[in-house]
Amino acid sequence: MLDLKKLLDGSKDSVTVSQTVEDCSFLDGIDCGTAVVEAVVTNHSGVIVLEGEIKPALTVFCARCGKQFGYSEPIKLFAKITDKLANDDEDEFIIMENFAIDIDEIVRSALILEAPTRYICKEDCKGLCPKCGCDLNLRDCGCDVSDRDSRWDVLKDFFDE
Ligand SMILES: [Zn+2]
Ligand SMILES: [Zn+2]
Repeated sequence: MLDLKKLLDGSKDSVTVSQTVEDCSFLDGIDCGTAVVEAVVTNHSGVIVLEGEIKPALTVFCARCGKQFGYSEPIKLFAKITDKLANDDEDEFIIMENFAIDIDEIVRSALILEAPTRYICKEDCKGLCPKCGCDLNLRDCGCDVSDRDSRWDVLKDFFDE
């Protein structure tokens, strides 16, 4: 938890955050990794603002070929912090409890909202052969995939009728 008491009572103008969140493998497609958050919390005449960046260092799986690769696209962090909500402001605000905020939780939420839901190792990744399972980026197995597709179409037509 990040204590904001000094910020709220005016004895500090800003509080800096530099923290590593361990074990970010809670999302689909992520094998393992951490995220470093660098941010500053400031008190703008009573409006508490958290601003900074999350730098992920993740090992992810390609959704097409299954290869593991590194992902480190930074995520911008910007949120207002309050101790109580007015009506339907939930999305814009982070709620503090006992004048503190949970940085781990904020980073996890940001990753859930902002990180891709599937990762592709490269834009033109050819994926795996649906017949023999080989990596089509590495070799052309020569399987006749169109043949398989047409047979499935016949079955599909059969069931449609
Ligand atoms: Zn791939
Ligand atoms: Zn094949």
